[in-house]
Amino acid sequence: MRIPLLSGGRAKRASSADFPLHATRFLRFQPTPKFRNPLPHPVRVAVVRVKLSGANLRVFQPSEGEAIQSFRPGILAGTLAALRRVSVPVPVTKAVVVFSNAQFPHIAPAERDWLWQRFQVPCFEQVLNSGGQVIAEECQVHAGLHVLRPEQLSGMLCIVECDCGRTEPRLLATALR
Ligand SMILES: [Zn+2]
Repeated sequence: MRIPLLSGGRAKRASSADFPLHATRFLRFQPTPKFRNPLPHPVRVAVVRVKLSGANLRVFQPSEGEAIQSFRPGILAGTLAALRRVSVPVPVTKAVVVFSNAQFPHIAPAERDWLWQRFQVPCFEQVLNSGGQVIAEECQVHAGLHVLRPEQLSGMLCIVECDCGRTEPRLLATALR
C-alpha cells in the first residue's frame, strides 16, 4: 500500500489511516530506552528529566530534589545542566551518570571537578542519541568512552584493549582536544 502524502499538488496531512498497521504500531509504541548501569551490581537509580526505564529506576524533575532525597539513589543520572538544577543537595551513595550527546561528548575536567565536589562519588559519562540509546559509555577504568554504535559518533577511536577487558573501540578525550 502506498502512502498518499500529496493530493492535487498540495500537501495532505497524513492520518493514521494512511499508514500500514505495522508502521502505526511502531510510531505509537516505541519502547522507552533502558538505562545502562555502569556498576557491576544493581542499585536504585534516580534519573533527572531523561525518559529512561529500568529496574529500581525513577525519573524526576530537577525541582523534585526532596523526592530524590527520599528515594535515596545509589546512582543519580542526568545531563550536566539538569544535575546542576536539582533543587536541593542530594546524597548519592555510588555514582553519578552524566549524559552527553554526539555533538558534545566528553565532560570537561572542570565539570568533573564540580561533580566530585557536589556528589563525592565516581562519575560515568554516557553519550546518548536522540532516541535516548547509549552510543558510547565510560567504564570503571575511566579511560575514554567505549563506543557501542560507531556509525553514530565521529572522532578518533582507540583500538587498544581497555584494562576492563571490554573489546569495543574507545573514543578518547585527547582525540577531540
Ligand atoms: Zn573499559
